Amino acid sequence: MKALLLVDLQNDFMPLGALAVSKGDQIVPFVKELVQYPFDVIVATKDWHPPDHCSFASNHPNGCIGEVVEIAGVPQKLWPNHCIQGTFGAEFAPGFDTTYLDRIFYKGTERYVDSYSAFFNNSGQLSTGLEKYLKDKEIKELFVAGLATDYCVKNSVLDAISLGFKTYVISEACRGVNINARDSHAAFAVMQTAGATFVPFQKLEEILKVKDRAL
Ligand SMILES: [Zn+2]
Repeated sequence: MKALLLVDLQNDFMPLGALAVSKGDQIVPFVKELVQYPFDVIVATKDWHPPDHCSFASNHPNGCIGEVVEIAGVPQKLWPNHCIQGTFGAEFAPGFDTTYLDRIFYKGTERYVDSYSAFFNNSGQLSTGLEKYLKDKEIKELFVAGLATDYCVKNSVLDAISLGFKTYVISEACRGVNINARDSHAAFAVMQTAGATFVPFQKLEEILKVKDRAL
């Protein structure tokens, strides 16, 4: 069984958003097609922070965006205020047809711990429920796309691999924050080393159909 995981396709990660991912909007046309492919399950995540969230530089005295602080032993990079629960910035991006989604998983909901991964918070202590949801549906293969390559996509992919999913990355449907110019490149390399398989978008439909025929 195959699932598609779409990570954080939200307004605040679009080019005009509070935590803009350059060209993040370019993946929307890919996603429009992806959701129509023959996946058994399609899920999405939402970054979903309370206003007093620990990842916001504004919630730390003299906090600077990009600075790394430590909170209860966990390194925390500071970001602009983004994806605040219930705001426009936290809504899915225009053009993302959510009628195809089987479930939405929310992350970063706790004030004191951030969550880059779709599966766990950054301290690794709280599950979003995604692992159980996918395993209950007997998903063995997980295809991942979304934002941002160098944070939430990367951490979701690494956790998916460690949880035993055969994990594919649709890199054309990912974009990175790239605080440093090659962060996305480095993130893809880390994912590949960990065991992720990269699927060219053009080959994806064919791969899914071939697998269906083989069953
Ligand atoms: Zn966040």
